[in-house]
Amino acid sequence: MQKRTKILATLGPASDTIEIIEGLIKAGANMFRLNFSHGSHEYHLNTLNNIRKAMENLNTTVAVLQDISGPKVRLGDLKEPFELRKGDTIRFVKDDIVGYQESETEYVASLNYPELLDKVKKDEYIYLYDGTIRAKVIETGAQVKAEIENHGKLGSRKGVNFPNTIIDIDVITEKDEKDIAWGVENKVDYFAISFVQNKKDMEHARKLLNGYHGKLIAKIEKFDAVENIDEIMEASDGLMVARGDLGIEVPYYEVPTIQKRLIKKANAACKPVITATQMLLSMTENERATRAEISDVANAVLDGTDVVMLSEESAVGTDPINVVQTMSNIIAKTEEIYNFDKQSKLAYLDEFDVIQGTVTKLADDLGAKGILALTSSGKSAMKISRYRPKTKILAFSHKRKTLNSLCAIWGVYPITVIKEGQASKMIQKMLKNLESRNILDKTGPYIATIGYPAGIPGSTNTIKILTEGEIEYYLNLPTNKKK
Ligand code: PGA
Ligand code: MN
Repeated sequence: MQKRTKILATLGPASDTIEIIEGLIKAGANMFRLNFSHGSHEYHLNTLNNIRKAMENLNTTVAVLQDISGPKVRLGDLKEPFELRKGDTIRFVKDDIVGYQESETEYVASLNYPELLDKVKKDEYIYLYDGTIRAKVIETGAQVKAEIENHGKLGSRKGVNFPNTIIDIDVITEKDEKDIAWGVENKVDYFAISFVQNKKDMEHARKLLNGYHGKLIAKIEKFDAVENIDEIMEASDGLMVARGDLGIEVPYYEVPTIQKRLIKKANAACKPVITATQMLLSMTENERATRAEISDVANAVLDGTDVVMLSEESAVGTDPINVVQTMSNIIAKTEEIYNFDKQSKLAYLDEFDVIQGTVTKLADDLGAKGILALTSSGKSAMKISRYRPKTKILAFSHKRKTLNSLCAIWGVYPITVIKEGQASKMIQKMLKNLESRNILDKTGPYIATIGYPAGIPGSTNTIKILTEGEIEYYLNLPTNKKK
């Protein structure tokens, strides 16, 4: 089945074996997320090795995304759950105490980031238990007192959000630093940084990569990140619309418009964008998705997202493979009405874009069977994808790393590593590889784009139309025999 929008599946106890990972890839998963909010380094290393074995067994390419958990603000422990009612007050203290009930209507609790209490102002809101309980700040100072505005039961260590407060904390914790070092050591392809506030956070993350060429995804899940989106995007290699926490940080009714705006911006800037959270949530337990979920996936595809993400659906759900298959089916059908061919709608980002724009138009107008893109940094394949051609983009690279990273790019099928300096040999190797995979249509045509000399980013200077006769010619060229 042909689908161009990519699927990122979170792995967890329900899906961390080689066998299930292979099943997920066959069902259409292109990338896997290791969620560092849970699990030890040892656990994740085992999963990572399983991904790599599955990739080898199936002779295919997938990408690994390490999701760095970041500073999730949480309530401290409570003696017993609070039965909060409208009008009750909760007093946050800076000492690390076990929370307790002080009187019939008064409660006391602590936070894991007590310094945040200094930043809160009167009349701002504090959300408790992942947004389910709202409290308005009525007193600030050495401690912060807030009045509860709706009923709810609050347990120990539940998430706390400050949707009106610029909290400006270091979003990379000590644990995150160790986790990033793990990702560098184990050569993950993408790092997702949580709760990013501004470009400084991404620059800090980049420094921690220590020169390693991993790609950085900024998770947009704070209200100030939405405001600072341009500078964040510039400092990132891609975005995630992290709707779970975002939906608490901004009014819930703004999530769809923010999603559309972020996707549009990322598309224009030629950076991949992932749409995440609750896409097929009910399938964590059920065999079938709700109509609303099915539409949500379809609409994200039509918005132009590169990737759609699964969280608990694939990590702890009852049937991860069924979930990925469902997502693939929705994507494939929806792409039948996709708004392809954006050559006239996008401004050129640099002087090379005229080449990529022309290649996509040529391929689509000719009804080509594929665009063969030999790309060193991945940039030229990404630029071809930016114009959203109907023709599939078959990508080859000198570098394994580049090929992996292209798993996040809409419409790009990373095929294999090719190390070859001579143009005609490059074309021959690309065609032969497709033939060996039984995916070459010898009647063509294919459009090949290569940079010459090879390996120089941005050097694409050859566009070749490979017709039936030429395909045959290249396949029959004598190959180098090893002496
Ligand atoms: P999370 O990020 O699953 O790590 O919280 C995604 C989101 O918030 O939507
Ligand atoms: Mn989140």
